Amino acid sequence: MRKTLLLGLTLWLAGCAVAPGSAQTSAPTYPVTHSEEEWRKQLSDQQFQVLRKKDTERAFTGKYFDNHDAGQYVCAGCGQLLFTSREKFDSGTGWPSFFQPAAAKAVVEARDSSWGMERSEVVCSNCGGHLGHVFEDGPKPTGLRYCINSASLEFKKQ
Ligand code: FE
Repeated sequence: MRKTLLLGLTLWLAGCAVAPGSAQTSAPTYPVTHSEEEWRKQLSDQQFQVLRKKDTERAFTGKYFDNHDAGQYVCAGCGQLLFTSREKFDSGTGWPSFFQPAAAKAVVEARDSSWGMERSEVVCSNCGGHLGHVFEDGPKPTGLRYCINSASLEFKKQ
């Protein structure tokens, strides 16, 4: 009888551990974190709106959609390597497009149901900065199209 009570109590406590507001239900955390004020100081207005507020730059206005130079694209928020020119392709969309990231761990995906669409948001795995979205209409070999804002990137020419 006592054992049953103890088991019940343990399960009840375990249940509390995953109650709303605990780590499991709160926003994901990333190695690089700054306050909103710090991000505002560190980034340009447009970088802040895109990286931290999930804004999208207008098509054909970014600095990298038509960039064909060889080099690396790092996160404009934290400097982590995200994409390279080897995975870049001309999508005709007006945004820099890649068929895969430089490393699988460089980005993480999150579900985005905004604007009445179901999309996969792509964020920097190091700072959580919004980069763009990934779609399944890309070229070989992955069939993926990472549609990324120029404002989220800094290009390092090789
Ligand atoms: Fe980052």
